[in-house]
Amino acid sequence: MSFLDYAPAPESRAILNLRPSYGLFVNGEFVDGNGTPFTTISPATEESIAEIATADDHDVDLAVQAARTAYDRVWSKLSGADRGKYLFRIARLVQERARELAVAESLNNGKPIKESRDLDIPLVAAWFFYYAGWADKLDYAGLGAAPRALGVAGQIIPWNFPLLMLAWKIAPALAAGNTVVLKPAETTPLTALLFAEILQQADLPPGVVNIVTGAGATGQALVRHPDVDKIAFTGSTNVGREIARTTAGTGKRLTLELGGKAANIVFDDAPIDQAIEGVVNGIFFNQGHVCCAGSRLLVQENVHDEVIERLKHRLSTLRLGDPLDKNTDIGAVNSREQLDRIKELTAAGEAEGAERWSPACEIPANGFWFAPTIFTGVQSSHRIAREEIFGPVLSVLTFRTPEEAIAKANNTPYGLSAGIWSDKGSRVLAVADRLKAGVVWSNTFNRFDPASPFGGYKESGYGREGGKQGLTAYLAPNPGGVK
Ligand code: NAD
Repeated sequence: MSFLDYAPAPESRAILNLRPSYGLFVNGEFVDGNGTPFTTISPATEESIAEIATADDHDVDLAVQAARTAYDRVWSKLSGADRGKYLFRIARLVQERARELAVAESLNNGKPIKESRDLDIPLVAAWFFYYAGWADKLDYAGLGAAPRALGVAGQIIPWNFPLLMLAWKIAPALAAGNTVVLKPAETTPLTALLFAEILQQADLPPGVVNIVTGAGATGQALVRHPDVDKIAFTGSTNVGREIARTTAGTGKRLTLELGGKAANIVFDDAPIDQAIEGVVNGIFFNQGHVCCAGSRLLVQENVHDEVIERLKHRLSTLRLGDPLDKNTDIGAVNSREQLDRIKELTAAGEAEGAERWSPACEIPANGFWFAPTIFTGVQSSHRIAREEIFGPVLSVLTFRTPEEAIAKANNTPYGLSAGIWSDKGSRVLAVADRLKAGVVWSNTFNRFDPASPFGGYKESGYGREGGKQGLTAYLAPNPGGVK
C-alpha cells in the first residue's frame, strides 16, 4: 500500500429519501407527464436511481399557464420585500438539506462529493441569499426607478452543475418578480426535483416555479411557447444557436450561456506551485465538465518543461473513483454520450500529432470514466486546441512573448473565461485588458461568487448571470416609474 492509498470513506446514501418515481412539478404539485418516462441513473455505476416523467407540449403548456396565473394573481402583486422573504426561506432550507442535496448531486451527476458538498450546494444557498437581498432594491439595479418584471421566464439548464445552474437561473428571476418554468438536463433531473420539495416546504405560492423534465423536445416546447416572455439558456453553442433562431422576431428576451475553450496563461515569473494547483483546478475540477474550464494551458516556453514535469507529478496524486467517497478527486463522466465525445476528440488529438499522457490509474469496471489526460506539443490548428472537449483533458501550447500569449488566447471562437499567472500586477492588468473573455482570473481559477457577473463573448453567448447585471436580464425599464 503506497502512502497515496486511502481507506475508502464513502458518504452514506442513507440520508436520501428518494421516491421510486418523480412527476413534473406544476402549480405546486407533482403531476404525471404525458411523455414516455425515463430512468435516471448513476453514471458511476449505471444503476438506476428513479423513474422521471417526460413533459410533452401539452404538459409544458400547463406549466406555462400555471406560471402565468401565478404571475398575474400573486407574484407580481407581492412587494419586493415579501418576495425576498421567500428567497431567504429557500436559501435556509437548502442549507438545512445541504448534505442530502450534495449526496443526490454526486449520485446523479458523478461529481466528487467533496465538490458538491463544499462548492455546489454552498453556492446554491449563496445565490438565493444574494438575490433575496436584491428583491426590495430593484430601483438600484441600473434600470431606473421601479423597473418591471418581464413575466414568465422559460429556463433551460445543462447537466454539469445541475442545482447550481438552477440557482443561477431561478434566484434572479424570482427576485426580479418573474415566475418560472425550468427544464433540467435529462441526465441530471434529481436535485431539481428535490428542490421542488423545498419549494413546497417554503410554501412558495403554487405556480411561481414549475419544473418540467424531459430531453431536448421538452426544451423546444418551452422555447416555442407563445406565452413565455424570456428564455434563459445554458448549454451547448449549437442548441443556443437554434434557440436564437426560434426566438428571433418573437419579442422574447434571450440570454445564452454557451461553451468555452479558455486559455490559462502561465508566465515564467508565476509562482509555479500555485500555478500548478490552479491549472489542475482549472481543468480537472468537475471532470472538466465546466464551461469556463482552463482547457488550453499556454505556458511560457522557458518554463514549459518544469511546469509539465510538476503537473505530471501532481496528476499522479489525483484519486479517480467513487464520487461518494470523500477522498475522490476525479469522479465519473456524466454520460456515455459525453464519454464517447471525449474519446473521439482525444483520438483526434493523437492522430493530429500531439503527445498524450495520463497517470497510471485504475478505471472502475462499470460506469463512465476517463483518466485525467494532458496533451503536449499541441498546435493552435489541432481540434483539441479549438473544440470544447468538456472532459478532464488539458491541451498544452507554448508562447514566448506576452503578445503571442494574447494572440493565442484570443484565437478561439469562444470568449467565456481566461486565467493569468504572473508575479507582476502590471503585466496581469495589461494582459487581462486585451483578453476577449467575460471573466479573467488572476493567480486563481474557477472562482464563483454571486456578486460577480459571469458570461461570454462571441460564441460563448450573451447576457450576464450573477451580480446586479444578472438582474437586468429579468427586468425591463419602466420610464413612467409606475409601480
Ligand atoms: P445541450 O445544449 O445539449 O443541453 C443543454 C440543455 O438544453 C439540456 O437541458 C437539454 O435537454 C436542452 N436542449 C437540448 N436540445 C434542445 C433544443 N433543441 N431546444 C431547447 N432545449 C434543448 O448541452 P449539454 O451537453 O447538456 O451541456 C454542455 C454544454 O453546456 C457545454 O457546451 C458547456 O460549455 C455548456 N455550458 C455552459 C455554461 C455557461 O455558463 N456558459 C455552463 C454550463 C455548461
